[in-house]
Amino acid sequence: MSRLANWIDHRWEEASSTASLPVLNPATDEVLTEVPLSTAGDVDRAVQCAQKALKGWRNTAVTERIQVMFRYKQLLEENFEAVARQITLECGKTLDEARGELRRGVENVEVACGAPILIQGYHNEDIAPGIDELMIRQPVGVCAIITPFNFPAMIPLWFLPYALVCGNTVVLKPSEKVPQTLVKLLELLNQAGLPAGVANLVHGSREAVDALLEHPLVKAVSFVGSTQVARYIYSKASQHGKRVQAQGGAKNPIIVMPDADLDMTTKIVADSAFGCAGQRCLASSLAITVGEVKDSFLEAMREASQSRTVGNGLDDGVQMGPLINKASRDRVRGLIDIGVQQGAQIIVDGRDNPVAQGSFLRPTVMSMPMQSELLTTEIFGPVLGVIHFDDMDKVIDFVNSGKYGNQACLFTSSGAAARKFRHETEVGNLGINIGVAAPMAFFPFSGWKDSFFGDLHAQGRHGIEFYTQTKVVVERWPKEWSRKF
Ligand code: NAD
Repeated sequence: MSRLANWIDHRWEEASSTASLPVLNPATDEVLTEVPLSTAGDVDRAVQCAQKALKGWRNTAVTERIQVMFRYKQLLEENFEAVARQITLECGKTLDEARGELRRGVENVEVACGAPILIQGYHNEDIAPGIDELMIRQPVGVCAIITPFNFPAMIPLWFLPYALVCGNTVVLKPSEKVPQTLVKLLELLNQAGLPAGVANLVHGSREAVDALLEHPLVKAVSFVGSTQVARYIYSKASQHGKRVQAQGGAKNPIIVMPDADLDMTTKIVADSAFGCAGQRCLASSLAITVGEVKDSFLEAMREASQSRTVGNGLDDGVQMGPLINKASRDRVRGLIDIGVQQGAQIIVDGRDNPVAQGSFLRPTVMSMPMQSELLTTEIFGPVLGVIHFDDMDKVIDFVNSGKYGNQACLFTSSGAAARKFRHETEVGNLGINIGVAAPMAFFPFSGWKDSFFGDLHAQGRHGIEFYTQTKVVVERWPKEWSRKF
């Protein structure tokens, strides 16, 4: 059985610990490889190496740094299908979903190619007679990028291209559940001509993460994962004096008004709730019907859920793959059990017809009582809860009372309802007749409340600001000091 290695100082290096975990194909249970659980010593070598490479890379002209990104974009296109297949193999999502996530990742490489403009500062002449003031952006230093299992390509690419074009060096720590995709992305980056030591990769879990958070040479930490861990990362990295952006979990409501186009809405809600087997931080997992649409929506969702084809994401026609592993599948099954104990009425039961092999669970739809704890629990599986309100004001109060703020979506044909929703809803990503309101690469991925800890988000201008520190220069050059020409 092969065991993955860490990429440090431009070569693959065995982790010093013998501890490792199997990496499974969640559709077949096949062991794909083993991932080492690196130690603080491994992390230290990677960080030292990134620090050594920093001077050369930050002194490389931004116009040269982006040439690496242009070549990287080309290599990602040429290897697009191979990377997408790798995502499906270890993450389980369908090949189309894998292609979609990779496309979103590549778009960030494209946006980062605009660094010569994005990184510009500003300048005032004569803030006082003969005195000028300017602001320039400089790299932060060594940056740590710690990512979750559900988007093994897209999420590292929310950060990596921006950190690099700004002149930083990085240490990546992929999810131990899906480590091979980032290995592949890193190989392509090296082929694109990134100089030695600028990007490093260390496998592992908590020990490796703690070592990054505590390391004095790490200046910035980008994290995506569950809220519990995001809060921990934010707190610990801040205590160690680093700038942090930490994106957490979610519980995303999707509101269906009586004037919504029911056919379109049902299809989009099903895609949002069950796409990627519900393992998206923008999965809409709680539908809220308003007014008389309640019964017709439940009936339409019954049909949309039952007809969904579940299977190996590599097979043609499959619309939903497995959960990431059996522990996750069993956790979600357990949450459905809790829902039923707390009075939920099952409309479609995904626990029926279990698949023997792999970590599959079919789509589930439940009509929920208002007191159920599942209304505020991130299930992270193919489960849609449905509740009902009589008017829009109560819906907005309910949505705003939630602890998460990653996304809320509204389906309506009323511009006034849409505007009210946009104006009053306390979430950072909003969809109007959209089921997954994922910001494009040139917009920030704007979670609020317990879905985000920090201030500058991933992607676009926020990425550039996060990975640079501003320097303000006030200068005077008296003309009597100059030689006469
Ligand atoms: P996770 O929090 O378990 O793991 C994320 C990363 O943190 C991994 O690299 C893991 O090795 C590391 N980690 C895990 N436990 C740790 C600990 N105790 N100490 C230090 N490091 C630790 O998340 P996951 O299960 O991989 O991903 C799913 C979660 O991520 C969901 O909650 C989902 O909503 C969230 N997510 C959020 C966004 C967003 O943009 N807000 C995007 C994708 C996923």
